[in-house]
Formats: sequence, C-alpha cells, structure tokens
Amino acid sequence: MNLITPFQNRTRIAYFSMEIAIHPEIPTCAGGLGVLAGDTARSCADLELPVVFVSLVSRAGYFRQRFDPEGRQVEEPDTWDPASWCTPMDAMIAVRIEQRLVWIRPWLYVHSSDHGHMIPVLLLDTDLPQNAPEDRTITHFLYGGDETYRLKQEIVLGIGGLRLLRALGLTVETHHLNEGHAALLLLELLDRSATRGDGKPQYDTAYVRSCCVFTTHTPVESGHDRFSYELVQRLLTDFIPLDIIKQFGGNDQLNMTRLALNLAGFVNGVARRHAETTAHLFPGYPIHAITNGVHPQTWTHPAFAELYSRRFPHWRHEPEQLVRVLQFSEDDLWRCHEAAKQNLIEEIERRVGKTLSSSVPIIGFARRMTGYKRPTLLFQDLARLATIAERCSFQVVVAGKAHPRDAEGKAAIEAIHAIARQLEGKVSCVFLPNYDMRIAKALVSGCDIWLNTPLPPLEASGTSGMKAALNGVLNLSILDGWWIEACIEGVTGWGIDRPGDDEHEHAQALYRKLSDVVLPLYYDEPGQWRRMMKQSIAHIASYFNSQRMMRRYASEAYLR
Ligand SMILES: *Cc1c(COP(=O)(O)O)cnc(C)c1O
Repeated sequence: MNLITPFQNRTRIAYFSMEIAIHPEIPTCAGGLGVLAGDTARSCADLELPVVFVSLVSRAGYFRQRFDPEGRQVEEPDTWDPASWCTPMDAMIAVRIEQRLVWIRPWLYVHSSDHGHMIPVLLLDTDLPQNAPEDRTITHFLYGGDETYRLKQEIVLGIGGLRLLRALGLTVETHHLNEGHAALLLLELLDRSATRGDGKPQYDTAYVRSCCVFTTHTPVESGHDRFSYELVQRLLTDFIPLDIIKQFGGNDQLNMTRLALNLAGFVNGVARRHAETTAHLFPGYPIHAITNGVHPQTWTHPAFAELYSRRFPHWRHEPEQLVRVLQFSEDDLWRCHEAAKQNLIEEIERRVGKTLSSSVPIIGFARRMTGYKRPTLLFQDLARLATIAERCSFQVVVAGKAHPRDAEGKAAIEAIHAIARQLEGKVSCVFLPNYDMRIAKALVSGCDIWLNTPLPPLEASGTSGMKAALNGVLNLSILDGWWIEACIEGVTGWGIDRPGDDEHEHAQALYRKLSDVVLPLYYDEPGQWRRMMKQSIAHIASYFNSQRMMRRYASEAYLR
C-alpha cells in the first residue's frame, strides 16, 4: 500500500511552513513561527481536521548553540537523521532552478494525537543523487546562506510543495501559508488557472484567492522577504512571465508579503493589535485577526496536567474547561508549581552546574535574541537591580539564540554573560545554552515570573507567555502582541506601563512594577499570589490555546 493512501480521502487543507517544531528531537525550527506550526499540527490531530503539513527537512537544523569562555555564541550544525523519525516516500517531483532540474523527494512524518488520529507532515528533501552537488544542500540549513539560497528554498517549499501534493494525489481545497516563505505557490496556482487561447493567457485570480489563506507574522516592513527581479529571473527562468509576477509581487522587488496579500483570499494577523499594525502597513487589504494559541498538552507540566485531568478529563480537547480552575485549592496548585520549579532547578544544574534556590522567585526570559525583543532591558541599571534584590531577592534565567548574522542579538548574548558575572553575589543570573522546545517547557513551567520586554508594536503575538499561563506562571510584560488581549492588571499578571518609546522609561517602569508590586506580593501575600496563579490559568489558558485557534481557522478561514 502507498504510504499516503490512508490520508488521501481526508486531506483538504495543506499548511505550508518553512519551519515546524513537530517533535523535540527534530531540529527543524528556529523560533515562534515553527513552534506555532507544530502546535497547529498537534491541534489538527486532536480535532481531526483534514490537514497535511509541508515543510523542509532541514537536515542540518537551525544550529546548536554553545558559548565560548567569554560568553559569545558559537554555532554548530544540528544535524539529524530523517530516517530515524520519518519514512522516505517513493514519489519525486522536480522544479527548475537556474535551468537545472532539482529533484525533490519527501519524507513522511506522522504525528498521532492521544486518541490515535494521524496527521501527515511532508518534509521536502533535495539531498538526492539525481541532483547537482550544490542543489543537494538546498534543504540542509534552516534560514542559512544568502538570499540566493533562501530563494531556492522558497522555490522548493512553495512550487515544489504544491507539485508534490498533486503528484501524491492529494486533493487540496485550501492552501494555508504560515508566513510568506511559500508564497511562490500562489504564482504556480495562478499559472495552473490560466486559460490559453490564441492571445495572452487569461489568469483566474478569483480561483487562486478562493483557495488560499495567508497568515502574516511580521509587523515591520523590513522583516518581509524580498528578492530582486534580477535574482528571480536568474533562478526561475521558464516560470510565469515577469510582468505577471510584478503585477502581484511589487514593481521594484518581489515582496513575498505583498504577493501573498494580493493573491490570498483570507489574510490574518496573529493578534488583534498585529492585524491593526498590518492594515496600517498595507492599506487597502482587509486583515482579519486570529490570535495565536499554544497546544495545551505539549506545554503543560505533568504535575499540572494530572491535576487538570483529575477534575476535567477532557481539558486537552476542550481547554475552555480550565476557566473552572478557579475552584481548585491553592495548596494543590502550589504543590504542582513546586514540582515544576524543582525540575527546572535540576535542569539548570545539569546544564550549567549552578544551583538556584527553590524559595526565591525565578524570573524567566527566553526568546530569540534580537533587537526588538530587548533582552538587555532588565539589565539597564544594575545598581537599581541590586537594590531591588536587597529588599526582595530574585533570580533570573535567560535563554535564546541569535541568528548567526544578527550582530546585535549576538552582542546581547555576550553582554548578558558579562552582566551575570557582575551581578554575582547580588542576583543569581544564568544563561542556558541552546534554547529549544525542551528548555522552553522546563522554563515556562518552572519559573515564577515570565518576563517580556519587546518594543511595541513589534511583537506580533508572542506565545511563550501563553505556555507560562498554562502552568500558573505569572506574566510581567510590556503591553504588546497577545498580552494586550490577556492582561487584566493584578488579576492575570501585570503590564509594564510605557509612556512613549523611550527605552530608559520602559526600564524604569519595569523596575517600578517589579519592586513596588510584583516582588512584594510574592513575599508578603502568598495567598494572593496563588489566587493570581489560578486566575491566570482560568482566564488565559482557557482561551489562548491552539484548539480555539484552529477552530477559528477552520470556521473562518478554511470554510469561507
Ligand atoms: C514558544 C517558543 C518560542 C516563541 O516564544 P515567544 O514568546 O513568541 O518569543 C520560541 N522558541 C521556542 C523554543 C519556543 O518554545
């Protein structure tokens, strides 16, 4: 029997993503975008939605991160063996890049829900003996190489992915683009829609729009993928005519976001504020808002999962039930938190040989190390930080990778290491290397306070704070992205007030909130702290989950 046969009659939607965190051992993920794709797949399986996932095999992963003695990031390939996790499929298709045929063969990874429903994930691979040596590495490095390499990857993902679905006999009614990386598939669909008579081909844009959904993730113009038409022409020689590409992708450069905005019939941002920012950036396009969510079971510590299951056996399928966590005993909740915190402390010991205290609150900050996330905002005034810690002691755990070409992000990593040394004896501060799903899970369940300090409006959504809330970890965050929708001050967590855009002001506001509100509450009013933990679970985890998110995509975007 063909491997794809079981899925042939129940696949109507194809979800395209450059990265996907489908399993903690499979390093085809660089950050939030990939984790979202993974949580989407997990919820699709839970809800039995007829979706196939398409991504690249990324044999060398994103990269494995370690630190040299000076605290500088060192990157190593994070090579994995697809054969240990996936089945090679005996189907092959080709795309033409720089006049050469580039053959693509998929690996099939099957994700299975708790109740046994299976979802196919196709990981595209060009490392085949049929291909020229330079083409064999196109699917090796996630976000590696230069813009030529990136465009080749996007040709493989978008055009190759689409051709493969057809070759496998999957009848897809809706194509969902997770960010613009796969947007070339829109041109391939446009090409297929053409009626060719004697004159110019007639393209059916209404058809393309009717079967495409685009989720944008980047609230800044510079964050969108763009390619020069000189490069596009060099790589894609006998593709759809250039004037047609320009008509939809922009006059000066091929802008993948613009291409997707023009040819997808449903476009959404990943939080209400992000949809507004996007509408502002691209006037004239209707932008819907479907706020992100996280997969409940994946991100809940086993102690909490057991507590939830005892009272609400169906909470995984229907996390709405968690609103009734309000009736739990605070002691039960606290015991779960202590177990999660102990696990984190042991994990930190194992990884960096430092022992944190279980009776002192841990502030967690883990995210991609990049400018707008402002990983050093907490450390702007070390004297102030030390003074706060004298009165109310706290500890800090940091984790996160900087993209190999992000000099600012790398400088932040080095700076935080130096700061941690300076703070020694005053504030325990550790930097965990190689942030990934496993470290994320330990952190979002074992910290006491989850900190986020982005520069508004650049945090499109953010999802790690949602994971924290599933475990009763309280969010302290700048009001941006999803937090604008979830923050009820002093009830579900705390916002950091931000008059203007001044970084210094933001740091001052953070220090004020920490020293006057958050830490005193932890030490002086443990009962109120635990009530807030319950409220955070009840109000946030019940809503900001990927079951709700996928039910909304299904009813609003897929069943238009
Ligand atoms: C959840 C997660 C992210 C995204 O978190 P943000 O809050 O959006 O920064 C990134 N990386 C990993 C490994 C994660 O688990």
